[in-house]
Amino acid sequence: MEEAELISIVVPMYNEEGNVRPLYEAIVKEFDELWCTFELIFVDDGSRDESVATVKTLHDADSRVKLVRLSRNFGCQMAIFAGLEHATGHAVIVMDADLQHPPEIIGRMIELWKEGFEVVYTIREETEGIGFFKRLTSSAFSRLQRRLGATTLEPNVSDYRLMDQRVVKLIVAMRERKRFFRSMVEWVGFRQTGIPFVAAERFSGNTKYSYTKLIGLALDAVTSFSTLPLRLCTYVGFIAAVSVVPYALWAIYVRLFTEDSVHGWSSIIVAVLFLGGVQLISLGILGEYVGRIYEEVKGRPLYITSETCGLCDSTNSPPD
Ligand code: UDP
Ligand code: MG
Repeated sequence: MEEAELISIVVPMYNEEGNVRPLYEAIVKEFDELWCTFELIFVDDGSRDESVATVKTLHDADSRVKLVRLSRNFGCQMAIFAGLEHATGHAVIVMDADLQHPPEIIGRMIELWKEGFEVVYTIREETEGIGFFKRLTSSAFSRLQRRLGATTLEPNVSDYRLMDQRVVKLIVAMRERKRFFRSMVEWVGFRQTGIPFVAAERFSGNTKYSYTKLIGLALDAVTSFSTLPLRLCTYVGFIAAVSVVPYALWAIYVRLFTEDSVHGWSSIIVAVLFLGGVQLISLGILGEYVGRIYEEVKGRPLYITSETCGLCDSTNSPPD
């Protein structure tokens, strides 16, 4: 009989004390029915509650539960990557700690992986208990990304996914600082397929994403995968400059051949404000990219681990 495959499950966790145990139990129950073993890697992203203690208690009772503890909050994208770097399974599943990603579809994901798909992503169908505004902004964001050519995936693709170890190795090898997990996995290629799921309500606690964080993530997602905004600001500037030419000619004509040359200060103000606006937008977009270059050039480690439980290497831990 062939050996059972090891599946790593990576869970970024930030103040999720109420969700750790229910998630663990759901995973154990799910794998009871599957011909696979698992390791469950919780990546603590600087939680201030009892999350870490809860994971350690589970680890003491069941060595399949493992912990990577980051030295502070690095954001969930970094937590995911820290987890991927420590995952040793033949395939790796990334899922949220709050049970919004149903463990019941893991069996189906593994089936598709065994059929030969290196990536099995999931598409969120409808979400109970998610505000109208959040749903609207999230779908507008997916649409914008598609327009900008940053992705070709359908809207509502979530971070909940299974990846073959080959794909994980490739992603871990990408050392860029501004990361948008979904797009990076898409960029890697191979055979990818999606399955739908219905997201449940958060089991316990509140969402860790404020709107400012979400806007930041959206900016990263766009600027890391597309330089179209840079080109767009060139176009806008060009159109603005050209459209001002007839007006300028007219102003010169009025000045030279008529007596009304004092008039028109209001239109000058309008023109100045318009151009000022265009310039500020362009500068802002340029600044976003320059800032990113600066971040990359510094070449700092992507994250720092303060401790690990049940895992061998600690690639980014500080020297003793
Ligand atoms: N998370 C994290 N670091 C953060 C914010 C969130 O590791 O700074 C984790 C969080 O614990 C959860 C996942 O990322 O497991 C998704 O976060 P959340 O459920 O708050 O986001 P939402 O589902 O509301 O988009
Ligand atoms: Mg959630």
